[in-house]
Amino acid sequence: MELKIYNSLTKKKEAVTVHNGKVTYYFCGPTVYWFQHIGNMRAFFVMDSVRRAVKYLGYDINHVMNITDVGHLTSDADEGDDKMDVASKRENKSPEEIAKFYWDLCLKDMQALNIEMPEHICPATSVIDEIIAFVQKILDNGYGYITKNGVYFDTSKYVHYGKLGGMNQNDKKFGARISVDDEKRNPADFVLWVIAKDNHIQKWPSPWGVGYPGWHIECSAIGNKFLGEHISLHGGGVEHKTVHHENEIAQNFACTGHEVVDIWFHLEHLMFNGGKMSKSTGGIYTLNNLIEKGYSPMDLRLFYLSAHYSKPQNFTFDALDNARDSYNNLKKLILKHKNGTNKIEKSVLDDYKLKFEKYVADDVNSPLALSVMWDALKNNPESVDIYNLVLNFDRFLGLRLNEIEETKSEIPSDIIEIAEKRKQARMNKDYATSDELRDKLASLGYTILDKPKNEYEIIKK
Ligand code: AMP
Ligand code: ZN
Repeated sequence: MELKIYNSLTKKKEAVTVHNGKVTYYFCGPTVYWFQHIGNMRAFFVMDSVRRAVKYLGYDINHVMNITDVGHLTSDADEGDDKMDVASKRENKSPEEIAKFYWDLCLKDMQALNIEMPEHICPATSVIDEIIAFVQKILDNGYGYITKNGVYFDTSKYVHYGKLGGMNQNDKKFGARISVDDEKRNPADFVLWVIAKDNHIQKWPSPWGVGYPGWHIECSAIGNKFLGEHISLHGGGVEHKTVHHENEIAQNFACTGHEVVDIWFHLEHLMFNGGKMSKSTGGIYTLNNLIEKGYSPMDLRLFYLSAHYSKPQNFTFDALDNARDSYNNLKKLILKHKNGTNKIEKSVLDDYKLKFEKYVADDVNSPLALSVMWDALKNNPESVDIYNLVLNFDRFLGLRLNEIEETKSEIPSDIIEIAEKRKQARMNKDYATSDELRDKLASLGYTILDKPKNEYEIIKK
């Protein structure tokens, strides 16, 4: 079945394109200067859902995600300091150490949430040569100019500038914040290469002086390196529509002479206390915070699945409690069907399959796809046919349904002993020891889920 995705550019659902036999897919990845919270994780969950939808419907895929480890300033529009530089000075570590530390944590959370890894994960600092070549091409093609501060993109040269974010040509005010460079030709012009100040830590030689890349250029250069000049799908958070992706479109055109991305899609945010969950507005949770409160990564995944990516999703603990109850219920139903002996007619199974596929194909509608799973599990006699059907659905849902087992306690006594010591440490508020013991359990292949009143559950990984 053909996958259709809502294209933010044309405002229509469009069939996904294939280039050289593959869906080429780019998603804007994390800036690794701090913890990724469950809002960020919603973005990567959506990245994964789209990837799984592509694969579920039988396409081959070539998928790339960048890691921003240089050049993302504290404002998306070329103002403020480089986030990596700030973190490096704050934590007294090198930018490489900061990047490694936060990326490792992000990767761990992605894996816990059963987010499949893209074919390519590319840190911006690993493609500085490609970035320089891309900037050079933009200059050679007449779309850029050099100032004392670096290289800028001349937005007046790309006549469609503003088409994604909805601005018209006379309304380029979004780039017109405090002018950082009086040689800038147009308020919306953005930086491609920044000449580094003396105290800037990350810097590389370039034809325009020692410096570092602007934030937007990495995504164009990385997309070009791994996917070529035709990208089927490009996704990211909705806030990227007006600046970051607008700039990517302009850069891509300036370099190649044609449009590169076929479908742009954007996910709406995870909301908390009436606003976007974000570090600057406070009130954030990481996956670990939730695990410490007794929720499992799959509870959170089920919560994410219950909302369409194009709608904001409100995070509350009541909603997460519901997801946890649902996941427990799901486990029971799965086990019932796993051992069921009834036979289900092929036509019934085919109906479910078709319905499920239709929802996946229609703009990755996870809540409706989920409803088909519940329908099949709840409204049929216990049958291994339903079990197998739902395992097949799980290629899209990613709920680790094949790992659900009868929970006879088979936890060895030495593991229970460590867990008890950890409980004691937690009761004594000795969190350093408690974390150490959690890591020890993890290295032995066990995850510990904390529950209220210092209770816990040990899960074999
Ligand atoms: P960053 O590390 O800030 O570059 O963000 C990584 C990804 O998380 C980006 O695609 C953002 O759009 C996304 N993101 C940030 N906050 C939220 C949120 N509250 N809900 C959903 N996605 C978010
Ligand atoms: Zn990007």
